[in-house]
Amino acid sequence: QRAEWAKLVDAPSISADGKEFEIASNIGTPADMDDVVKVGSDAVGLFRTEFLYMDSSSLPTEDDQFEAYKQVTEAMNGKPVVIRTMDIGGDKPLNYLPLPEEMNPFLGYRAIRISLDRQSIFRTQLRALIRASKFGQLRIMFPMIATLDEFRKAKAIFTEEKKKLQVDDPGIGDDIKLGIMIEIPAAAIFAEAFAKEVDFFSIGTNDLIQYSFAADRGNESVSYLYQPYNPALLKLIKHVIDAAHQEGKIAAMCGEMAGDAVALPLLMGMGLDEYSMSSSSVLRTRSTMKTLNTEKCAELVNHVLKHALTNEDTEKMVKQFLK
Ligand code: PEP
Ligand code: MG
Repeated sequence: QRAEWAKLVDAPSISADGKEFEIASNIGTPADMDDVVKVGSDAVGLFRTEFLYMDSSSLPTEDDQFEAYKQVTEAMNGKPVVIRTMDIGGDKPLNYLPLPEEMNPFLGYRAIRISLDRQSIFRTQLRALIRASKFGQLRIMFPMIATLDEFRKAKAIFTEEKKKLQVDDPGIGDDIKLGIMIEIPAAAIFAEAFAKEVDFFSIGTNDLIQYSFAADRGNESVSYLYQPYNPALLKLIKHVIDAAHQEGKIAAMCGEMAGDAVALPLLMGMGLDEYSMSSSSVLRTRSTMKTLNTEKCAELVNHVLKHALTNEDTEKMVKQFLK
């Protein structure tokens, strides 16, 4: 089987009926690029930059960050690289940036909320990203967006930093696409409004499931509520994808669900454009994708949304379909 997969390294990510998709990699550091290139990912769909901050004993400088972003972007040779601004807080603390003790860190001061509040940290990161965009197709993604105002503020700060850099380097950063993680239910529900203003969505199912079912993603006692196939969640995901396409925007996914074999026919049936996962899952997914017909998958989605009431119902229907 591994030998079969190896043949797919340079192959397109395509369904049985010839529809093209993108199968991308999630990375945490530039060192992960070896695997990305080895498996022939179509893109980097998520670079979790918080590891640059967590693996350091002080705030990483603009130049340190620039080097890291440049390295990743160059390694992709013109293929898209989605870099997410820092997602600190929640379960990812920084010892040199003391944050207040919180009763509910996952509902607290984290990610874009910190970035918009401590703007000098955010501006440093944005400058490094804009400078690195000269080396490939770099895209910027904001984590934990709940409201349109947050996106607009982040975009305004990005534009300010870009204008400053353009004084010495005209046109720099003008090709950068700006997107958001869809991982908070309010943003998913209101995707139609976001789709008019952003360039792309990436659905973060790890958090979207956590917040939709109100179940801490790291708490074993409530892990039964991690239900990626629950029709309530599927309806929400379909809504997000439809909203993106209505405005001609890209719908991606970068949570665990994007590399899940049972979810794949459902997501293909909904028309999800990009699937970003651990590099170790890329060839397996590309291989399965080749066997699936998107129209049949769309029929499966209709059937599931009409008849499934539980996570298990969906799982059974998909497994029957895959047989
Ligand atoms: C997610 O929430 O699904 C996601 C991809 O981001 P992270 O796992 O880093 O929170
Ligand atoms: Mg997340």
